[in-house]
Amino acid sequence: MTECGIAVGLNHAGKQMVGAGRMSASDLIPLQPWATYIRPYSAGTFSRQQGTPSAAMTNPIKFIDAMEILDSRGNPTLRVTVVLVNGTIGMASVPSGASTGRFEARELRDGDISRYGGKGVRSAVRNVVEVIGPRLHGQDVSRQAEIDHLLVQLDGTPDRSRLGANAIVGVSMAVARAASAAARLPLYVHLGGSSACRLPVPMMNVINGGSHADNTLDFQEFMIVPHGAPTFAEALRYGAETFHALKAILKSRGFRTAVGDEGGFAPDLESNEAACALIIEAIRATGLKPGTDVALALDPAASAFAGDGGYELARSGGGRKTASELTKLYRSWVHAYPIVSIEDGLGDQDWEGFREHTALLGADLQIVGDDLYVTNTQFLSRGIKEHATNAALIKLNQIGTVTETIEAIAMCRDAGWNYVVSHRSGETEDTFIADFAVAMGGGQIKTGSLCRSERIAKYNRLLEIERELGSRAIYSSPFRNPMRVALHS
Ligand SMILES: [Mg+2]
Repeated sequence: MTECGIAVGLNHAGKQMVGAGRMSASDLIPLQPWATYIRPYSAGTFSRQQGTPSAAMTNPIKFIDAMEILDSRGNPTLRVTVVLVNGTIGMASVPSGASTGRFEARELRDGDISRYGGKGVRSAVRNVVEVIGPRLHGQDVSRQAEIDHLLVQLDGTPDRSRLGANAIVGVSMAVARAASAAARLPLYVHLGGSSACRLPVPMMNVINGGSHADNTLDFQEFMIVPHGAPTFAEALRYGAETFHALKAILKSRGFRTAVGDEGGFAPDLESNEAACALIIEAIRATGLKPGTDVALALDPAASAFAGDGGYELARSGGGRKTASELTKLYRSWVHAYPIVSIEDGLGDQDWEGFREHTALLGADLQIVGDDLYVTNTQFLSRGIKEHATNAALIKLNQIGTVTETIEAIAMCRDAGWNYVVSHRSGETEDTFIADFAVAMGGGQIKTGSLCRSERIAKYNRLLEIERELGSRAIYSSPFRNPMRVALHS
């Protein structure tokens, strides 16, 4: 039993259902839009009277449906529905990245220029309905790893380009949802077990540049990290108040306050560094302490301005830099600002540069690889061996299945690395990653700014989870050297 009233001892194979007889529907229907589609107590799988699983705990898939919907940028994406024989339904919508890693799994787009400029996903929808669905018919939905393995085999390409990474990840996520609904568990318990109670510290992207905006900033994301808050709910308040203070400051100085794809502001500042200074000012304006309460994180997404063995800071007029010069520029910022994390500070081909970068900055800072690893264990194992970074960004659609994503996280854990579960710039109202971040227990999530409902939906889902966990909920800083950050306060 737990304080939050959720029956414990259930794993995702549904083997043990300790205390299940105490459950009520309100305990188990997640308080989110997806609840409409997740109906517990489906006939034939569970006896409420006895409080034990029925003899046959398999939950076979009846069919899989998919449709073309739009993402937050108005581009087509997929929504996949997995329907079980017992009537249980699991749905998932697929995110899509703008700044994609060179080696990440490939989305299948129709290329028919007469529809959505070629970005339609009807072919991926067809692959779900006509190829994947029939192959998975009758499979037990609780066997996620086996199903994901079948998906990978069925596709047969290293980059998932035959069936489409978008088709495959949609099915994999919807399978997890259907299995959690069949087991009558919230998704984070289904995927993480009853010990999943750590809420993630959010990295909130409040100033955008690079390929996420059309302004003078070379670096893609300037994020606030409310790691000093006592709870996730308070962290969200710290973030939202800082966001509003930042908006007021930008407005008062005549900068535009329009937002980019992930909800961050995209002002034409005089330099990349000016973005850090403005954010510090905004944190102070709220009465919070920069560093102790709210730290900074950067995602320069340097692959976007890498080329010919160097880095061109063309948007800001910052000139050309070598990898060493860029690392030294970051180091000077780290001395001036309470930065706790730098992601993709160099390009995805620059392994040598990353080794030096992490050697110089990694003792105090979280150095995250995103484009470098694309959530792929092949690249991650090289990164671990070469000390290229000390953390990884984790995106389900970069690799293609829930199981492979969990394998990448397991590799990070084994290496003692941090990992950050992340959204994409093209998102939907689906909150899968909120539950996934809690299930994986890494204590970090990156899911955008403090506006735009496709971002806020994830934060709101985390509020629900924290409330549901009650006194079991944990919120703690994942950063290795909080004392260094405190010096900046
Ligand atoms: Mg990135």
